[in-house]
Amino acid sequence: MDVDVAVVGVGVAGAFALRALSKDLNVVGIDKRQTLGYPVECGEIIPTKKEMRELLPDLEDYSLFDIPKRFESNRTKAFAFILPNGKTYTVDFEMHVLRRDEFIQSIAHNSGHKLLLGLRVSDFDSNLHLSSGKEVKAKVVIASDGANSKIAKKLGVWKYELASAKQYVMKGVECDEDMIYMYVGNKIAPGGYAWIIPKGDGIANVGVGLRPKFAKISIHKALDTFVGEHPYSSQFLKKAEVIGKIGAVVPVSLPLERTVYGNVIFAGDSASMILSHVGAGIPTSMIAGDIAGKVVNRYFKEGCSLQDYESLWRRAMFDAMKRSNFIKNLWDKIASCDERLCKYFTLIGNKDMGMILRSRVPLKLKVMAPFISILNTLL
Ligand SMILES: Cc1cc2nc3c(=O)[nH]c(=O)nc-3n(C[C@H](O)[C@H](O)[C@H](O)COP(=O)(O)OP(=O)(O)OC[C@H]3O[C@@H](n4cnc5c(N)ncnc54)[C@H](O)[C@@H]3O)c2cc1C
Repeated sequence: MDVDVAVVGVGVAGAFALRALSKDLNVVGIDKRQTLGYPVECGEIIPTKKEMRELLPDLEDYSLFDIPKRFESNRTKAFAFILPNGKTYTVDFEMHVLRRDEFIQSIAHNSGHKLLLGLRVSDFDSNLHLSSGKEVKAKVVIASDGANSKIAKKLGVWKYELASAKQYVMKGVECDEDMIYMYVGNKIAPGGYAWIIPKGDGIANVGVGLRPKFAKISIHKALDTFVGEHPYSSQFLKKAEVIGKIGAVVPVSLPLERTVYGNVIFAGDSASMILSHVGAGIPTSMIAGDIAGKVVNRYFKEGCSLQDYESLWRRAMFDAMKRSNFIKNLWDKIASCDERLCKYFTLIGNKDMGMILRSRVPLKLKVMAPFISILNTLL
């Protein structure tokens, strides 16, 4: 099959690329899943449009974040951030809890472009080789094939760190459904955090993300400890039952140094486009997919360079990603010991926590950063 554009992987970034790509182009979206976005391998939260203005202030257009009500299972008002000693910070921060699978399906199917579903891209040279044995020859490839990107591996550019995640969908969860709960500590989430994300009606995404390089426990043990034994989550989960489970990975590095290689554009997790300190990649993938589609339109219509994509997505969100990465690196230096972590947090106020969750670095963290190894010996 010969096409103008192949979108490889129709998750968040791929769906938004398809939506942006002109109907005048011959486009195909390819995904190994038969049902797009399903199973849901995600906590499903994204900031509301008001919060996106704070989070990514350099975006020109926020209309992508006008999320129709039908894709929202809940709207939360605040985060509770819970330390290993139980100290809790509460930060006002409005989030949509998405029906992520339906969201992706609707965006992709309404794009009007051809979709090849249930087919894996098994190899890539000048052509895309599909698991069916067929080949697709594309003038431009948008590689939105997620954290284990086949295309990035084939081009030899796949080199980011992956965090492991496991999540239960639980019913009978008795927490405040206006609140998203984030828990840190080495017994449950070394290098990451655990979460309870209420979807409404007592149903919640309950998960753990950890970084294998810091972990002495398996992800399975970490989640079961969090659900069954953790003193500050068990109050919400004691009557809860598991009704679904998934395991997945999320990139936690800065994005690829280059995201355009010849006629191949990387968008979303395939390029590690993530706010790494919280593992948030839905909004960044939406933006990347949208910019990729629009640049490709101009490439065909006006002959612009595909390299424009590189500068546009970086202008929109690279600064926030760098700040997020700074916070993550600082976290890595202070979080190996729960007791010391709690001592550090005596310096952190609620306002600082609000900044941190919005990928902003409080001045005191900037000042502390060069002295962390000395402080670690003192605390
Ligand atoms: C457990 C967990 C919880 C998370 N929670 C949140 C959250 O609450 N909020 C948030 O912002 N971020 C969250 N993230 C991160 C977020 O889910 C991702 O950053 C985001 O989905 C990336 O979108 P994407 O389109 O790049 O990749 P994906 O959504 O992963 O899409 C990739 C697509 O490519 C397809 N694919 C892969 N390989 C091939 C192939 N060889 N051939 C054909 N198709 C292929 C896949 O089937 C998939 O549909 C979470 C991640 C995990 C693992």
